[in-house]
Amino acid sequence: MDRLNIRSFAEWDFPFNRPLIISGPCGVESEEQIHEVASGLAKLNVHLLRGGIWKPRTRPGSFQGIGSEGLKWLKDAGNINHLPVMVEVANPKHVEEALKAKIDVLWIGARTTVNPFLVQEIADSLAGVDIPVMIKNPINPELELWIGAIERINKTGIRQIAAIHRGFSTFEKTKYRNVPNWQIPIELKRRFPNLPLICDPSHICGTRNLIGSVAQTALDLNYDGLMIESHAHPEMALSDAEQQLTPDALGEILNRLVVRSAVIEDVIFINRLEELRDRIDNLDEEILNKISQRMEIAREIGKYKKENNITILQVERWNEILRTRLKFGLDHELTREFILKMYELVHDESILQQTSMMNTEDPEMKKAALDSIEGKEQ
Ligand code: PEP
Ligand code: MN
Repeated sequence: MDRLNIRSFAEWDFPFNRPLIISGPCGVESEEQIHEVASGLAKLNVHLLRGGIWKPRTRPGSFQGIGSEGLKWLKDAGNINHLPVMVEVANPKHVEEALKAKIDVLWIGARTTVNPFLVQEIADSLAGVDIPVMIKNPINPELELWIGAIERINKTGIRQIAAIHRGFSTFEKTKYRNVPNWQIPIELKRRFPNLPLICDPSHICGTRNLIGSVAQTALDLNYDGLMIESHAHPEMALSDAEQQLTPDALGEILNRLVVRSAVIEDVIFINRLEELRDRIDNLDEEILNKISQRMEIAREIGKYKKENNITILQVERWNEILRTRLKFGLDHELTREFILKMYELVHDESILQQTSMMNTEDPEMKKAALDSIEGKEQ
């Protein structure tokens, strides 16, 4: 039986109403930077100020975080703006420094959650301390590893725990920096209904323009809060520049969000819809990719035909294409009309691309060639 001994959001030391909004920069960069963004956020409905002090970066040589001296700047910025503050800890040394600086909430990053040794060390360093800890999902889509990290922290006596969903790493390129795989956090919520669940659309999206819609999906799925990165001058940010929002832009997103009280059937329906839409998005990308590769080959053929003085349109070839594609399409539940229309379009474009290759130097010739192919394939 899965069991966690935790408090609900309403019973935390500083109780949160749903949805909890966490914001702040990816990394604390300077005293001025954290004060500027914090004062912007204080004007919004933000409850918790985040700021990375030690940044887990993929490659050495990039900004690794400002280090311990930033803890005081963050805490001061929080005090001035009446916001509790939150940092990422990745080892017991970080925990010690953060506790010394009176940081209010800790979070464990995705690259730490994957490592049970490190999570256990962090848990041990928290023995006897009563501080809220939020645990991001591991970078790989493995629910048990996420649960394992939550249990390790819980077993040490921490009872104010939340999970943060920040998406999962994939080899294939998608529109997301980290694909959401909504079914994983939903399963977590099903198994641990009183565990607060927060979505981090910034690290899921990787770009500013998707953040609003992912945040809305999370709320529609009944998440308890959002963690969204912000920076007064995102273009100058030393890490995650593309995904940080100005406080004004964040304010606009927050104003547009609709908070519904979801019932479970809605949650399952929205999750399924979202999953299906993601699959369509990926397939469309694949289709366009393949068509563009097809056109590249058409241009190559055009060049080759030119070098060998061969005409573009070879009727037998076109008949062969139509015959085989029609059969394949009909076998795969596509209609005759659709395949014919689609191939006409593809073929016309293909001939255009070949023609442009063959007559690149002479626009008159090119036009004549284009005119001559018109209407040929009825
Ligand atoms: C972060 O929140 O800035 C961060 C490093 O996140 P993650 O662990 O999700 O990559
Ligand atoms: Mn970041």
